[in-house]
Amino acid sequence: MTSSPHIAHFFVTALQQRCSIVTNTDNGQSVIIDGGGDSDRIIQWIDSGIGSPDDEIGTYDGERKVVALINTHAHFDHSGHIPYLKQHYSLEWWLHQDDFFLQSLAQESGRRWGFSLPEPAKAENTWEHGEVHTFAGMDFEIIHTPGHTLGGCCLRLIVDDGPDHLFAGDTLFQGSIGRTDLPNSGGDLDLLLRMIRERLWPLEEDTIVHPGHGPLTTIGQEKQTNPFLNDGFRGRGAWL
Ligand SMILES: [Zn+2]
Repeated sequence: MTSSPHIAHFFVTALQQRCSIVTNTDNGQSVIIDGGGDSDRIIQWIDSGIGSPDDEIGTYDGERKVVALINTHAHFDHSGHIPYLKQHYSLEWWLHQDDFFLQSLAQESGRRWGFSLPEPAKAENTWEHGEVHTFAGMDFEIIHTPGHTLGGCCLRLIVDDGPDHLFAGDTLFQGSIGRTDLPNSGGDLDLLLRMIRERLWPLEEDTIVHPGHGPLTTIGQEKQTNPFLNDGFRGRGAWL
């Protein structure tokens, strides 16, 4: 049973990647999704209540205890500060194994974009499509959606008293999809479109989509209006 969580969004790095802190309001236990940057700011807010998120859903005034670090995929703007978060909270990290090679290149990839990052983190844990993992007392379904990267996943938080939340990484955006032309990522436009149709469109229409960049949307809205999935539109997607 998962009741509506508190979700805080921090847009981190110059690439404005959405790092989400999801808190079970029953016990304060929290997970960090896509700790790509600005870890000092995030740690200060979680541990000491200093500063504030860029956006939030729900209310929660209690203390937080981070119990897991989980990722949609391994591009450096999503994973670059995992080493700092792992060290600070002494936690293991979860990432789909098909992105382990890409992850090993995070420091190098960041450098090409002018980012200075620590030695890349190694994930202790992987997961498989269709599994449901319980973190912080909240159930997340793992939906493997390769196409932007080989190991890219959408993480669906299953909520009993409200809409589900889909942490979509760079698979699906409001009005766009992820890029499929990035080095070492295994990008594949046809596969990405097929994964969205086969694995995301069947979700409840009111599912709230939290993309890796840009505004929130819903499955229903994207099904109806996303130009990449309608009208045979072709072209390059967005973001890293
Ligand atoms: Zn990406």
